[in-house]
Amino acid sequence: MDVLNGLAASGGYAITRAYLLGSVHFVVTKHHSNDQNHEVKRLHDSFAITRDEIKNLQQQAHRNLGRQAAMVMDIEVDIMADSEFYSEIEQLVTLSHFTAEWAVAQQTQHYQELFKKMNNNDYLRQRATAVTEVRQRLLSHLLGQPLPDATKLDHPAVIIAHAITPNDMVNFNDYVKGLVTDNGGPTSHFAIMSQQLRIPTVVGTKSGTKQIKNGDLVIVDGVHGKVIIAPDRKTVDHYQRLAGQYAQEMQRYGALREKRTVSKDGHHFIVAANIAMPDEATPSLEDGAEGIGLLRTEFLYMHSANLPDEDQQFQSYKQVLTAMPDQQVVMRTLDIGGDKRLGTLRLPSETNPFLGFRAIRVGLKNPQLLRTQIRAMLRASAYGRLAVMFPLVATLNEFEAARSILDEEKRALTRQGVKVADDIQVGMMVEVPSAVTMADQLAREADFFSIGSNDLIQYMFAADRGNQRVGYLYKGMHPAILRSIKRTIDAAHAEGKWVGLCGELAAKDLAIPLLVAMGLDEFSMTSSKVTRVRSLIKQLEKRQLQPLLHQALAAPDAETVCKLVQAQVPALHDLQ
Ligand code: PEP
Ligand code: MG
Repeated sequence: MDVLNGLAASGGYAITRAYLLGSVHFVVTKHHSNDQNHEVKRLHDSFAITRDEIKNLQQQAHRNLGRQAAMVMDIEVDIMADSEFYSEIEQLVTLSHFTAEWAVAQQTQHYQELFKKMNNNDYLRQRATAVTEVRQRLLSHLLGQPLPDATKLDHPAVIIAHAITPNDMVNFNDYVKGLVTDNGGPTSHFAIMSQQLRIPTVVGTKSGTKQIKNGDLVIVDGVHGKVIIAPDRKTVDHYQRLAGQYAQEMQRYGALREKRTVSKDGHHFIVAANIAMPDEATPSLEDGAEGIGLLRTEFLYMHSANLPDEDQQFQSYKQVLTAMPDQQVVMRTLDIGGDKRLGTLRLPSETNPFLGFRAIRVGLKNPQLLRTQIRAMLRASAYGRLAVMFPLVATLNEFEAARSILDEEKRALTRQGVKVADDIQVGMMVEVPSAVTMADQLAREADFFSIGSNDLIQYMFAADRGNQRVGYLYKGMHPAILRSIKRTIDAAHAEGKWVGLCGELAAKDLAIPLLVAMGLDEFSMTSSKVTRVRSLIKQLEKRQLQPLLHQALAAPDAETVCKLVQAQVPALHDLQ
């Protein structure tokens, strides 16, 4: 029994077999064969199966992720159709009498090395990757050793991978019961998706893929960020009990959902849900959410084979607003770039994608894309309480440009006789340090702020939110972050505007008393955490927390802040 320590990224427990998603190293030894006809037939068959496989995968990618994602596989299709590539390998069999697997291994290695030497542009890099992909498939058939493929999973399993992307998540099926990665942080987008899907997840284990073997029994402890490999009976029993308690705890919190979220001294807060797809709206209400604080609209685009048109988007937004008859729904315009890519929209390849062409920057450069989305939102506004916000706004000019696009579209629709609500709030996310420092001016223009702490933390500390190596800097409880949040809230309140927080910090036990003390108006999070947060807020007294807040803001580091909160908020000790 071994224990791996990582970071808790999505709560809950999974106890099942491991499924390794990673590169397999095939061992191929140099052998000659006397039966060349047989070897040529094996080679021919392995090419035929691989061609079919790639074609099927390409069709699947097209269905799930769109034409452009599928086009990435064109290179593999080309290689498999290249008669020269095939005959070079065949010659190694017929002229040099090598086995088919040795011939494949030799020739593909030759191309890999060749492309690596010329590895100075994207095209050759992609070609090298495609040769590796083809090699693995051919060898897997020739050696009779299957390659891992999570999309074909037909039994419950915990996925163990070096890294997981949001696109991988789109392709996972219901058999995925837990996720463990070597890399990544708890606010990587795939981790946020795993919370929405309620898949227990531990990230940043560094060596998970090395220490865990396919088929090992593992326990994923998504509450404490631990993975137990090959547990003994006693440990399995213990975790089965914990899993049962966890499920009960979730139910208990559920009982609180009908009441309003009011602190002990009478301050009212909204605890809303972050969702990615329209069909999550109703379940989030059932989970006790008091509205939608963030609809991450980019996931609609990720699930679609083509860029969704205005009508398709209108139907999706209408579905969310209709599901929330009395509650506010905050929709965020397309936030792609960084680690979120669309198969249907090619973004430039950049050295620093998180500092590059992302979010509102993409929308303002492609106004048709933004206008289509905004029109769909405005048309849907007739069905509920809509608020629209723009992601990653860095300057007043950006906000004004985005807002004027919205105002223009609103006027155009009204002229055409389309019904548009007249009380739509237009706000922005505060996730860049420049927005914090200019919050007083921005608050005059925006109807509300929503603090995106996931990004704000990474940009404040210049520490990539998905990079484990700089994870020691990525601290939401650091006074630098707390001061930024307080400054943002104070600036908005001075203009009579409200402030939400929709990053992961909103659901962090130790942060909640401080955010309550600052007077944050809306907490928004994955809906599985809503009732827990609501129950904690109900036990707090905003006024009494003021001295703690001042000590926290004056503290030197995150660790001191955590200790202060832990020591001074008894309600936290009752939480499990
Ligand atoms: C954030 O940055 O905190 C946020 C909510 O946006 P996302 O996680 O989608 O970047
Ligand atoms: Mg963000």
